Amino acid sequence: MSKSYDLVIIGGGPGGYNCAIRAGQLGLKVACIETRGTLGGTCLNVGCIPSKALLHASELFEAASTEFAALGIKTGEIQLDLPTMLGQKDEAVDGLTKGIEFLFKKNNVEYIRGKGRILGQGRVEVDADGETSTLETRHIVIATGSEVTPLPGVTIDEERVVSSTGALDLQKVPGRLVLIGAGVIGLELGSVWRRLGAEVIVVEYLDRILPGMDSELAKAAQRIFARQGMDFRLGTKVTGVDTSDPASLSVTLEPASGGDSETISADTVLVCIGRRPFTEGLGLENVGIETDGRGFIANDHFRTSAENVWVVGDCTHGPMLAHKAEDEGVACAELIAGKAGHVNYGVIPGVVYTAPELASVGATEDELKKEGRAYKKGKFPFQANSRARTNHATDGFVKILADAETDEILGAHMIGANVGEMIAEICLAMEFRASSEDVARTCHPHPTLTEAVRQAAMGVEGWSMQA
Ligand code: FAD
Ligand code: NAD
Repeated sequence: MSKSYDLVIIGGGPGGYNCAIRAGQLGLKVACIETRGTLGGTCLNVGCIPSKALLHASELFEAASTEFAALGIKTGEIQLDLPTMLGQKDEAVDGLTKGIEFLFKKNNVEYIRGKGRILGQGRVEVDADGETSTLETRHIVIATGSEVTPLPGVTIDEERVVSSTGALDLQKVPGRLVLIGAGVIGLELGSVWRRLGAEVIVVEYLDRILPGMDSELAKAAQRIFARQGMDFRLGTKVTGVDTSDPASLSVTLEPASGGDSETISADTVLVCIGRRPFTEGLGLENVGIETDGRGFIANDHFRTSAENVWVVGDCTHGPMLAHKAEDEGVACAELIAGKAGHVNYGVIPGVVYTAPELASVGATEDELKKEGRAYKKGKFPFQANSRARTNHATDGFVKILADAETDEILGAHMIGANVGEMIAEICLAMEFRASSEDVARTCHPHPTLTEAVRQAAMGVEGWSMQA
């Protein structure tokens, strides 16, 4: 006898698990199938969480080595205990993935370990180590996420030539680490290993880092990361990695526009040129769903082309971010339960957790210029913020963009300590369609970094008072 459900979700990452919890809260009979062995998906197991655990620890390690003395803190020689640093990362992952199992129980979600495959409308097969069973369901949600985009000619072995997954678990600090791609993963994980002692060379195909982010922000970030010791080779492509010498890798570089090649040595190469949707073996053909040229499943308010089959998260369009997947999962469950689920794609923040951090929401200045939209801009440097000065963290600025006529906030872009937390204020303001004046006239606590946000908002109307 097959079991029957209101909703079966395939994939237990931020898209799938949040969809499952919300569906459970709304009284639906729901199961979530996950093949990895633990819940939480890429985010908790090999993404957001382990990378942030290493970013936090490595930032403290660097601060202890370079900043403590000037603050009057004397220590002995600072030494790296890499196994312990990796161990605390694994503990964070373990605790949080188990936490989701607890949340499933609390919200009446059935967790099914195995690989899910759509057999047809309302039928999903689960393969648990070769033992198969079939579930009957009114609705199916696809939340199978994404995987690393491979680079033709470069074979990832997760030891010397690694993806982000291997780079989260290197057993030794590489002497030289070459990153292919100056995107979010490269800059975050490159920062980790640079702080722990690696020489980091960043090879980027384009003539800028962090494509898609506001270019003024990206330029400022590149200057700061270069000062920290990262060596950027922009407008350059990797054409091959020779692994034949067990002592050293040979990485061949070429100008992106063609020209003479150059070979550099490396101990480790990190391939981080993006991620692609993962839908392998999912049985999409059994319900007539076709993916687009890049492998994404198209959706209209999370509905796929097949009746009662829905899709959320990295395997459908939009930014590949955990909180985007989460919001889609929640809204999708609400729609399935007959409620009004909605995601505002204009207000999805993006954060790069380097030091300083970068945070963005809404339109970039480049986009507004391209659109020909009249806008005003307020910008405030952390150099003029009292808390940033007392914390010796004066790198960066806050920039707020508002409509020239209505003053509605259209976007905000920040680089500086803790801006990943501070961006939420502007997200909320934008959800309420606030004007820059609304933020400028809101009392902010002193002395805090958030005062820079207020001063930048004042700057939109030309009355920043502290710079
Ligand atoms: P996933 O998290 O990929 O989950 C999909 C799950 O489905 C997987 O666990 C997979 O095993 C399972 N699955 C696939 N096929 C099947 C099947 N047939 N049957 C059963 N299960 C299946 N985003 C942020 O917002 N902030 C960050 O700081 C951040 N840091 C990141 C750092 C790294 C190194 C990486 C790689 C990613 C990071 N991301 C970050 C991106 C974030 O991890 C993803 O956007 C997010 O995990 C997407 O969620 P998802 O639920 O769509 O997919
Ligand atoms: P990305 O898209 O952020 O950056 C990839 C970079 O590689 C780009 O700059 C691109 O121009 C470059 N590139 C592409 N092909 C290249 C080539 N052949 N040679 C050299 N450079 C090349 O991708 P990522 O850094 O791999 O991250 C993947 C996804 O994971 C992103 O979508 C990101 O949203 C998500 N992520 C988010 C966070 C965060 O939110 N803090 C952290 C890590 C990952």
